[in-house]
Amino acid sequence: MTTNDVHEKALVRLDHARKSFGDNEVLKDISLSVHPGEVVAIIGPSGGGKSTLLRCCTLLERLDGGTLAFDDLVVASDEGGRAKYGSSSVLKEAKSRFGLVFQNFNLFPHYTVMKNITDAPLHVQKRGKEEVFTEARALLAKMGLEGKENMVPCELSGGQQQRVAIARALALNPDVLFFDEPTSALDPELTKEVLKVIRELAAERMTMVIVTHEMNFARDVADHIIFMDGGVIVEEGPAFEVINHPQHNRTRAFLNNYE
Ligand code: ADP
Ligand code: MG
Repeated sequence: MTTNDVHEKALVRLDHARKSFGDNEVLKDISLSVHPGEVVAIIGPSGGGKSTLLRCCTLLERLDGGTLAFDDLVVASDEGGRAKYGSSSVLKEAKSRFGLVFQNFNLFPHYTVMKNITDAPLHVQKRGKEEVFTEARALLAKMGLEGKENMVPCELSGGQQQRVAIARALALNPDVLFFDEPTSALDPELTKEVLKVIRELAAERMTMVIVTHEMNFARDVADHIIFMDGGVIVEEGPAFEVINHPQHNRTRAFLNNYE
């Protein structure tokens, strides 16, 4: 680590992360940092630990070892090789720093689009109704979902549902958005409309970490690509370099499947 790295602000910093499920060591010494405005894409074969990595970053799973911080907020510190988590108030504060978008949208099925988006800002963040609704309508317009306010998720296409899920995450004003294969449940036409809104967010310098199988999208949109396999980062670097000039045989073999 250079002196520059030490002083550089990182919205997310994970260091020497380890995680096992029973005897299965799924994350083996993973480190990553995400800086303001940066888009990081995580690629790699199924079972490589990508979702576990995202779930550890978003506090859905706990690390066994390593450290995790959001900017200056330390969530997990190292204590004799074990990850020691902060108090419940630290975890609560950490959860307000990020948003998460899953593969399967995970909207509340019995809530309207508007209620899906406004529920947490109103009842968790306890913000004013007028402000929350105004912002929600602006987010819906941005996602190309005008006029869908009163529909329930089953009345929408998968692509529309995923765009509602992105609006819902953005409504909490997170510092960073995590996506776990946001388009892998969608057919190519619907994939396009979801990737388009993520591209627009990237153009606005939204900080994002995206697990994806869309290699062209990753190359075009990400600043930094991480190739993960077998619980380790095999290769990482500037997006164009990793996709167009992979250095490792495992990366090359993986990328060959996408040509
Ligand atoms: P990827 O997202 O890259 O496909 P995952 O993180 O989902 O990889 O899985 C990595 C490994 O961890 C796999 O061997 C998987 O079976 C295992 N795994 C993931 N979640 C759990 C869990 N909750 N319990 C037990 N094993 C798990
Ligand atoms: Mg996964």
